[in-house]
Amino acid sequence: MEVVAPTLGASTPVVGEVVAELEISGAWLVDPVAGREGPADVLVRDGRVEAVTWLEGDDAADASPGGVVVAPGFVDLHAHFREPGNEDAETIASGCAAAGHGGFTTVCLMPNTTPPLDEPGVLGLVRAAAAASGSPVRVLTWGCATAGRAGEQLAVLGELADAGVVGFSDDGAMVAPAAAFRSALAYAGSLGLPIAEHAEEPSMTEGAEANDGLVATVLGLRGWPAAAEEAAVARDLAIVAEVVRDVPGARLHLTHLSTRGALELVRRAKVSGLPVTCDVTPHHLALTDAWIAGSRGWAWDATGDPWTAGAVTAQPFDPSLRVNPPLRAPEHAAACLEALLDGTADAIATDHAPHTVVDKQVEFGAAANGISGIETALGLVLGAVDAGRLPLLRAVEALTVGPARVLGEPFGGGVGLVEGEAADLVVFDRGDRWTVSTDALLSRGKNSPLIDRDLPGRVLVTIAAGRLAYLAD
Ligand SMILES: [Zn+2]
Repeated sequence: MEVVAPTLGASTPVVGEVVAELEISGAWLVDPVAGREGPADVLVRDGRVEAVTWLEGDDAADASPGGVVVAPGFVDLHAHFREPGNEDAETIASGCAAAGHGGFTTVCLMPNTTPPLDEPGVLGLVRAAAAASGSPVRVLTWGCATAGRAGEQLAVLGELADAGVVGFSDDGAMVAPAAAFRSALAYAGSLGLPIAEHAEEPSMTEGAEANDGLVATVLGLRGWPAAAEEAAVARDLAIVAEVVRDVPGARLHLTHLSTRGALELVRRAKVSGLPVTCDVTPHHLALTDAWIAGSRGWAWDATGDPWTAGAVTAQPFDPSLRVNPPLRAPEHAAACLEALLDGTADAIATDHAPHTVVDKQVEFGAAANGISGIETALGLVLGAVDAGRLPLLRAVEALTVGPARVLGEPFGGGVGLVEGEAADLVVFDRGDRWTVSTDALLSRGKNSPLIDRDLPGRVLVTIAAGRLAYLAD
């Protein structure tokens, strides 16, 4: 079979330059806008999609969904690029490079920087850094819901909305006082913007280290109950149900949901028509708490006993696995996958959380929470696709139009390969695996439990707004 490689015309562009020409023939095109996938030719000229031609008959014979895939550029609802304040962990520039490598052309940054993005001046710093980076990755930001993320007074939501935030979040923590959450939801709703909630009832997770269950018990780690997430989700949904009667524009987005109970609450809320959306992360889909015990199987293969003969292949207590919310038991990972399949989960978001070695290479319970994940997201999701647990079209949908719909207008427009429009796409080879390594990761955060692991779906080229965001060697 012919190997399909994208051809970049006479001169190879560098990151940031307009892509003069990109020709991809006989690739597998996934178009989540049309809900269609199949063999196609794609031609990009002067940064615009010149032609998309679906192939049939003999022309289509060489294309396979397991080979070179073309999809719209991915949209990440949840990433931490650490600038301003912790540029040793990540900068806007290194984060954008990592995003391009992961196939992402739009990122929504969380506002828990130092200082936090609770006033427009900080947004100005982020925008200046994005412009200076030269990367074409579209950098959007959430603003804080409360001043200083302190949960007391609302941040200047109106000013932040005027400055162009996509919505509001105190991510890293929930908006803990219910009254503050209620006010923020109503005010944001009147501005037409969502609240993105990190659902974690803090009084139940103080000192918590790992999912409350068998693994935490055996390893002697302090349990992190599923109920902490579920109680927070239940509270927020009760408040949304009331607020939306007075403020029809009120919208709640629950980010990085990780438990069966929380997803079931969202499922029922959606049936009853509440304005709620949610996302799940690649690591909560693909990994389980068994990894902390040193058992490194994928969630969909898990038996529930990490100590099955031969399963433990790594040292236990790897601090790169410490994350908030914690990696859960297999039943919860399966629930995340089910939620994606039935549309309860609208999107896959990375919660890309780069950290320095100093913050991460310490005792498990003392390690900073988070996984550097924007470059490994596609590989983990494709793992589920390869295992037959997730259709490719649905996976791409949850990385593109799903998050775009959560953002809504005006931020979520422009997804898809439309003739005449600026090209915004990723080309990856499902048949080509790559090895995750500290060198291969463009993020400054090397805190990944997938280091030394092979993942499917090497990204060949990413184009954002007609300009080169990433090109494989
Ligand atoms: Zn969070």
